[in-house]
Amino acid sequence: MKISTRIGIVGAGPAGLTLGLLLQRAGIDCIILEHRSREYVENRTRAGLLEQNTVDLFNELNVSGRLQREGLQHHGVNLSFDGMRIRIPFDELTGGRCITIYGQQEVIKDLVKANLERGVPVYFEADATRIEDIGTNSPKIVYTQNNETHVLECDFVVGCDGYHGISRSSMPKDSYSEFVKEYPFSWLGILANATPATDELIYAYHERGFALHSLRSNKVSRLYLQVENNEKLENWSDERIWDELQIRLSDSGNFRVNRGEIFEKAITPMRSFMIDNMQHGRLFIAGDAAHIVPPTGGKGLNLAVADIRLLAEAMVTWFRKGNNDLLGSYSQDCLRRIWRAQDFSNFMTYLFHKQAPHGSFEYYLQRSRFNYIGQSKAQATTIAENYVGLKDI
Ligand SMILES: Cc1cc2nc3c(=O)[nH]c(=O)nc-3n(C[C@H](O)[C@H](O)[C@H](O)COP(=O)(O)OP(=O)(O)OC[C@H]3O[C@@H](n4cnc5c(N)ncnc54)[C@H](O)[C@@H]3O)c2cc1C
Repeated sequence: MKISTRIGIVGAGPAGLTLGLLLQRAGIDCIILEHRSREYVENRTRAGLLEQNTVDLFNELNVSGRLQREGLQHHGVNLSFDGMRIRIPFDELTGGRCITIYGQQEVIKDLVKANLERGVPVYFEADATRIEDIGTNSPKIVYTQNNETHVLECDFVVGCDGYHGISRSSMPKDSYSEFVKEYPFSWLGILANATPATDELIYAYHERGFALHSLRSNKVSRLYLQVENNEKLENWSDERIWDELQIRLSDSGNFRVNRGEIFEKAITPMRSFMIDNMQHGRLFIAGDAAHIVPPTGGKGLNLAVADIRLLAEAMVTWFRKGNNDLLGSYSQDCLRRIWRAQDFSNFMTYLFHKQAPHGSFEYYLQRSRFNYIGQSKAQATTIAENYVGLKDI
């Protein structure tokens, strides 16, 4: 079957669903194709840190009712090195900006609901298999649903289909360069029914490796440990995980981690990836389809939403005024923020992960970098403004 719309969107993650709402607000028709079921995408646990910019956009789109009620605003973050702790006060250093802790799966539930209520068609279990004719004015997405093949004809295709999607590889190979960095460590992450032992996140360097105490709600803790890239989950009993977290997160004030039932456990490799062009012909790509950052800076979801804010504005300008300027500069406009986020995520990763033996030259450089945060308001401000998200870039 052949159907048509203005904008064909591949992927109902944060990027695709936010784009759906922005286009609907502007009166531009679109269809979102998602190869998973609604239930699956609404329960996929991933990020949980929303920058001020992301919350501002969700407020503007009127999709933040539950986020405002259930999200936890954090006005600072704790950084720890060998048990010494520094708090970075966002309020004071960024003119009142903050972050909000709210699980990505909750964001997705809110965005799916709003799209459907506002009449944006979201086709679940619709697998995009090919993107064709991107060099013409009527690109097409070929997809299968219920074992039937369909063709979606549009004015533009937007690939919001994540790192493993088909959109990036639908652009000619010579239209972009790839940058890849594999870090020599991974994160073992858990979700646990345990009251968080801290009101604000704690990033900790320890001679046994990095640890992060984060949270998802007042009852659910999210914690991570640096592990070797070839580490196996079966080597980590729940008890071993809690013991290791306790050791790495301890500070001079005898901080105690609250233990509880672990209901999710996974090892994720740490990677940076990006391409330097996010458009070819009538195909635009956004979010994880174009870039991956290590999760240390909490930027993945926020970057995806930031790309979409720019793309939606560019598309609305094109449809309303026939002006191509913003569409033409889309890649370059996104790349400024993406490079900043890559650098910040890389900085945070190297500041807190163990990369060299304790007591080595590299270790002392790392420690000096940490001490400087406590000594210099300028350095603390740099971290705070990158962490809550730069407003204009
Ligand atoms: C395991 C994991 C843990 C993470 N943890 C963190 C974290 O702690 N902090 C952080 O900041 N970031 C984290 N991230 C990154 C963050 O979740 C992503 O940056 C964010 O989801 C990007 O949104 P997106 O919309 O670009 O892509 P996605 O959320 O990946 O959405 C892409 C969508 O496209 C769909 N899709 C793919 N191919 C097709 C196709 N052919 N046809 C139709 N649909 C398709 C997928 O099913 C998916 O729903 C994590 C990512 C992963 C994978």
